[in-house]
Amino acid sequence: MRMKKLALMLLSSLSALSTIGQTHTGDPKLSEVWTPVPAVITPGKTAQDAPSDAIVLFNGKDFSAWTGEKGKAIEWTIADGAMTVKKGSGMITTKQGFGDCQLHIEWRTPSVVVGDGQGRGNSGIFLMGKYELQVLDNFNNATYSNGQAASIYKQLIPLANACREPGVWQTYDVIFTAPKFGENGRLQSAARITVIHNGVLVQNNATLWGGTEYIGIPEYKPHGAKEPISLQDHGNPVSFRNIWIRPL
Ligand code: MG
Repeated sequence: MRMKKLALMLLSSLSALSTIGQTHTGDPKLSEVWTPVPAVITPGKTAQDAPSDAIVLFNGKDFSAWTGEKGKAIEWTIADGAMTVKKGSGMITTKQGFGDCQLHIEWRTPSVVVGDGQGRGNSGIFLMGKYELQVLDNFNNATYSNGQAASIYKQLIPLANACREPGVWQTYDVIFTAPKFGENGRLQSAARITVIHNGVLVQNNATLWGGTEYIGIPEYKPHGAKEPISLQDHGNPVSFRNIWIRPL
């Protein structure tokens, strides 16, 4: 009985193989696609440098791409090619809105360690002004997992803690898919995010639950297809540099 079953399995695999074989004969040109032709761009010298089709949001010199909270003048400081949070002055926000995008941003928490948990080197990148990719000094600093560096705050725990030590520059490379809303503001597809932290994959096309909430369960509230990005003032002098974005 067992032999018969085995023979039947073998026969069915052979027939599957021959079917596959048939579809792979003929003119290989029939499966070539020549249009559209992807745009030719010049990549940066290194993977951290902006490619030719990127929008540079901060080149180390000025806040020309940004506005202060509620339209106020920006009080964050710029020195040595980096911007630094000024405690109590509020978040800063891009003038331009973005939806689906690739974002590169570098950040540094203070070399002099002050505080612990969420009070140590805390800032954040609010994609579309609503979805926080956490920035935190998590080098030998315990906090709740869904609030640590590279988490989507209070939603998605990162796959690894890839933090460098305080005072050292770190990179985030983010691929973000904006949520889509249909008629009557109904959610059609949730936001998704991939994050590479210092070269390490820490969010893998993960699905967001909704807008970031400090208290309670996140939920989606309808918004535009493109919304500005904000950087958080959480009271710690966190620095940022080399920020560029490619709308997708
Ligand atoms: Mg934060």
